[in-house]
Amino acid sequence: MEVITKINEVQERVLSTKDSRKSIGFVPTMGALHDGHISLMRSARNENDELIVSIYLNPTQFDNNDDFDNYPCQLNKDIEIAGKENVDVVFAPCTEEMYPDGFCTYVTQDKLLDTLCGRVRPGHFDGVTTIVAKLFNIIKPDRAYFGQKDYQQSAVIKRLVADLNMNIDIKVCPTVREEDGLALSSRNIRLNPEERQSALCIYGSLLKARAMFDSNIRDTKNIIKEMTSVIKKTKHTKIDYISIVNERTLEELSLIDGKALAAVAVWIGNTRLIDNIILE
Ligand code: AMP
Repeated sequence: MEVITKINEVQERVLSTKDSRKSIGFVPTMGALHDGHISLMRSARNENDELIVSIYLNPTQFDNNDDFDNYPCQLNKDIEIAGKENVDVVFAPCTEEMYPDGFCTYVTQDKLLDTLCGRVRPGHFDGVTTIVAKLFNIIKPDRAYFGQKDYQQSAVIKRLVADLNMNIDIKVCPTVREEDGLALSSRNIRLNPEERQSALCIYGSLLKARAMFDSNIRDTKNIIKEMTSVIKKTKHTKIDYISIVNERTLEELSLIDGKALAAVAVWIGNTRLIDNIILE
């Protein structure tokens, strides 16, 4: 496995891969790798000749300095994990490499952002679309892999490649969970044992939504009220949002008619966690 930190070096490697007509699978990450990231790597490994993983903590997608400063960072351990997953190239640039002096071009979207995380984290998705567009231009993957846990992110990325005519197949892989249901997240490390216990209410609220949906309740106000009560009765929690939206347009629904996405963002102590499930 090669670990590359310079853009021109990874571009050279990509050129030679393309010359030999090999396909490239790409998994962009911010590091602190866990089994969720590993599941994306395994899908990409299976479906492509060459697997490139990027590890880059992108400052422009953080709307909260504390979150950025406290984001876990473990590059050596991440490189070891990638090695075990038969990754061909880890691309781990520094910020001077990705945003050199004079950088001033951003990719922004004007749809899909007035709900869910887009509404409560202003600027976040501009950072995501900008860094992902840059990484796609550098790596030129055939397929790129994202997790369902960040559902809105994958919707935004699908729109990005369609709108900018990038010929990249966006694959969305299922959310990997702990045995007790908590979605894996790099931020889970920050939870103390009591908060870790409280965090279970997130998936609990989604299961409540599914149970109500399964018993033919379609009125989202009703469902959200019950989800809210699951979270509110749990210690150390503060709700950021609970929404039920159209799974494609991400528009808020008052009545579920077809496929919907139930999504929540909750502060557990000082850590903000998100999760979602599809109701169908
Ligand atoms: P991050 O490093 O948090 O930016 O995540 C990198 C990629 O891993 C994103 O596409 C995430 O959606 C995905 N991911 C994060 N957590 C999980 C999880 N629990 N299951 C599946 N994919 C995940």
